Amino acid sequence: MDARDTHEPSFRDSVDVMFNRAAAMLDLPPGMAEKIRVANSTYIVRFGVKLRGEIKTFTGYRSVHSEHMEPVKGGIRYAGNVDQDEVEALAALMTYKCALVEVPYGGSKGGLCINPSDWDVDELERITRRFAYELIKRDLINPAQNVPAPDMGTGEREMAWIADAYKRIKTDDINARACVTGKPSNVGGIAGRTEATGRGVQYGLREFFRHPDDVAAAGLSGTLSGKRVVIQGLGNVGYYAAKFLSEEDKCLITAVAERDGAVMNENGLDIEKLKAHLTGTGGVKGFADAEFVENGMSVLEKDCDILIPAAMEGAIHLGNAARVRAPLIIEAANGPVTAGADEILREKGCVIIPDMYANAGGVTVSYFEWVKNLSHIRFGRMQRRHEEAWHEMLIGGIEEMTGAAFPTDTKKKYMEGADELSLVRSGLDDTMRTAYQQMSAVWNARKHEGVDLRTAAYLISIQKVANSYASLGL
Ligand code: NAD
Repeated sequence: MDARDTHEPSFRDSVDVMFNRAAAMLDLPPGMAEKIRVANSTYIVRFGVKLRGEIKTFTGYRSVHSEHMEPVKGGIRYAGNVDQDEVEALAALMTYKCALVEVPYGGSKGGLCINPSDWDVDELERITRRFAYELIKRDLINPAQNVPAPDMGTGEREMAWIADAYKRIKTDDINARACVTGKPSNVGGIAGRTEATGRGVQYGLREFFRHPDDVAAAGLSGTLSGKRVVIQGLGNVGYYAAKFLSEEDKCLITAVAERDGAVMNENGLDIEKLKAHLTGTGGVKGFADAEFVENGMSVLEKDCDILIPAAMEGAIHLGNAARVRAPLIIEAANGPVTAGADEILREKGCVIIPDMYANAGGVTVSYFEWVKNLSHIRFGRMQRRHEEAWHEMLIGGIEEMTGAAFPTDTKKKYMEGADELSLVRSGLDDTMRTAYQQMSAVWNARKHEGVDLRTAAYLISIQKVANSYASLGL
């Protein structure tokens, strides 16, 4: 059976099933689990834009899942199949994700029912500005209340339009730039945001491989180096994850699935060349040095060490889960494994590093960008040269005392003060390490109760949200 089983729960139901399993293991005050689980509100807007000689009507959503912390945060997705169920599921995941990685936000998510490739850039700008206006006037975009970011189908460009739309309406808001994250650097973006989610996947995997017992639980051994990786989706998240894992951790990306099929090479695909081919042709078909298969989904069932679904939700479902052979899955996309598939994979002993952790790099660096916008200064600007001067003095002292010259390479590295990009990467690395350590500790302590990494992540985040609500008097 290849197609998704019709008895499969919806995306939101899938999230709820996973939530309920964890909530039942916690000792929460009566009614607290229900309060946390439900979406606080979902705003649906239908607006018209005059395009190509007629008025085109678009439908957009902004769901606010939890306001236990404000602002609430979550991306805006452009896709033809966006609906209320999907944005509510994604908003809920944002709440749990932010709590897990200690980013001080509630969860939100937005979506516009549109296929971006149907429109040219000028049209997309007009549509985006109009959508932004609808959300801004209801404070669903606001630096203190609701801060969007990019998601599937959107990127820096759309975020720049949204930031500009906000600034034009709220001309006296000195913190206007903090109304949205994922902006280009010339309008208040931060170094390292574009790569952040893929970078977070890499840091998450590195931390997993620092835990030998966890590696053994997946039936794997050794380090991340040389592991064979299959990826679905070479967009923002998948591309950076594939690039860093292959270039820096010496993983072999043995297959990449895209919309038009998949390409495979057991010796490892050249990710830069493949991305250029994808950008140039719109697909992976025709890529040299690789075998092409029409049925892209089939490579999710390929023999490999690590499977990275980085495209969309529901990629692994009741219809294909039993055939998935990867011993380790890291959910770079949101909700790529349905609740039913999760059950099957867990029974098979497959270890799943859950989405709420695995793709938290994006919101973590968005948080850094928001802080940068509120402080109105680039990270590292005050201390970088000061650090360099102190390092130089220390090296000079050591050389004087020993009479020996410091090794040139080490000296150069040690002398460099931290710029914004290295500070962002350091903050992200710390976040991913700390959150994994917490999840792993709960997983290992409660394995006998059937706790896996996903349940551990939910246990931690639900408890944190419950504690916030309790402090608010609920
Ligand atoms: P994107 O639009 O940049 O990339 C998605 C990629 O998947 C595209 O290359 C697309 O062609 C491909 N794709 C779509 N349908 C496919 C299919 N059926 N089979 C194979 N490939 C397919 O989106 P993105 O920003 O990389 O987001 C991907 C996932 O990661 C989403 O679930 C999103 O919610 C999640 N995510 C993204 C971010 C972020 O910072 N961008 C942060 C957290 C989570």
